[in-house]
Amino acid sequence: MGKIHELAAVLADQIAAGEVVERPASVVKELVENAIDAHSTQIDIEIEDSGLKKINVVDNGDGIIASDVELAFRRHSTSKITTKKDLFKIKTLGFRGEALPSIASVSDVIMETATRLPPSNIIHIKGGKIISQKMGARSQGTEISVFDLFFNTPARLKYLKSMQTELAAISDIVNRLALSHTNIAFSLKSNGRLLLETAGNGKLQQTFSAIYGVKTARKMIEINGEDLDFKVSGFVSLPELTRASKTYISLLLNGRYIRNYQLTNAVIKGYGSKLMVGRYPFAVINIGLDPLLVDVNVHPTKQQVRISKEEELVQLLVKTIYQRIAQENLIPDALKNI
Ligand code: ADP
Ligand code: MG
Repeated sequence: MGKIHELAAVLADQIAAGEVVERPASVVKELVENAIDAHSTQIDIEIEDSGLKKINVVDNGDGIIASDVELAFRRHSTSKITTKKDLFKIKTLGFRGEALPSIASVSDVIMETATRLPPSNIIHIKGGKIISQKMGARSQGTEISVFDLFFNTPARLKYLKSMQTELAAISDIVNRLALSHTNIAFSLKSNGRLLLETAGNGKLQQTFSAIYGVKTARKMIEINGEDLDFKVSGFVSLPELTRASKTYISLLLNGRYIRNYQLTNAVIKGYGSKLMVGRYPFAVINIGLDPLLVDVNVHPTKQQVRISKEEELVQLLVKTIYQRIAQENLIPDALKNI
C-alpha cells in the first residue's frame, strides 16, 4: 500500500497559515484588505492585547451572500479571480483565497455579513471547524472578530515579539493601508484607545497628517511625474525633515503597499547629496501602472512584487524627486511662508 495521502483540509489550512498569518498584524492586514476589496468607505478596527485576545474589523462594504459564507472560509475560494488570464491583471488586493481559511484554522472566528438584502448571516468557526451558522439582523457590510489567535499553534505564539512590538506592527500596517486608500475613513483602537482616525475624503496630505502629525505634513511637498509606462505622484519631505530609518517611505503600487529595496533607494537617490548620512526622508508615493506590468503572485503576503521595466521606474522616481527638490531650493527661505 502507498504511503502518500492528501492532508485534511484543516491541517493544510494551518500549514498555509504559517505563511499568511505570521503575526497579529498579518491578520489585520488580510481582514482590512478584504474590506477594501469589498468597496467599503468606512473601516473600523479594534484590537485587544495586541490582537492576541481579539481583532475586530467592521466594514460597510458589499457583504457576502448567505450561500457563499461557508465557501469564503474554504481554501482557494475567492470571488476575485476566475481564469488564468485574471491572474495577470489583478486589480484587487486579495486573489489567493487563502486568508480566511488560514486565519480560521488558527483562531476562533465569528463573522457576521450582509449584502444589500437582509437578513445577515453569522458564522462561527473555531480551529477550522464550523461551530454554528445562523441568521442575524445586521445591515449591509461585514463584521469579523478573531479571538485567541494561535490558540492551537503554541509554537507560533511563543515566536511572537513583545506585545508592544506586535501592536506597533499593527499600527504600521493600518497606517499604510490608510495612506493607500485615502477615500476610506479608517479608525484603529487598541484596548479602547483611539490610535488613528482618517477622514476618508481622498486627500493624501490630510491622511498623512492624521498619521504623522500636522507639523510633519506641513514639510511635505507634492511630486508628480510620468513616462510612457508609469505615473508617480504623492508627497516627499523637504530635505530638512528626515528620520534615522527608511520605514517612513511608503510605496503604493496601484493601491497596494509594497516593500521594494530598489524603489526605496530610488526615492533616497532623488535627494542627491541633500540628505545627511544615515538620514532618510518621509515619502508617500503612488505608483500607477498597467496591472500587466506587475506580478503580485510572488509571495503569500503579496508585499513583494515583480515589476517589469523596474529600472525605468527607478529612473522616473529619481528624476521626478530630484527635479522637485531642486525647484524647492530655488525659492529663498524668506519667501517660503508667503
Ligand atoms: P481573497 O481575498 O484572496 O479572495 P479571502 O480568504 O481573504 O480570499 O476571502 C475569501 C472571499 O471572501 C473573498 O474573495 C470575498 O469574496 C469574501 N470576503 C472576505 N472578506 C469580505 C468582506 N469584508 N466583505 C465582503 N466579502 C468578503
Ligand atoms: Mg483576502
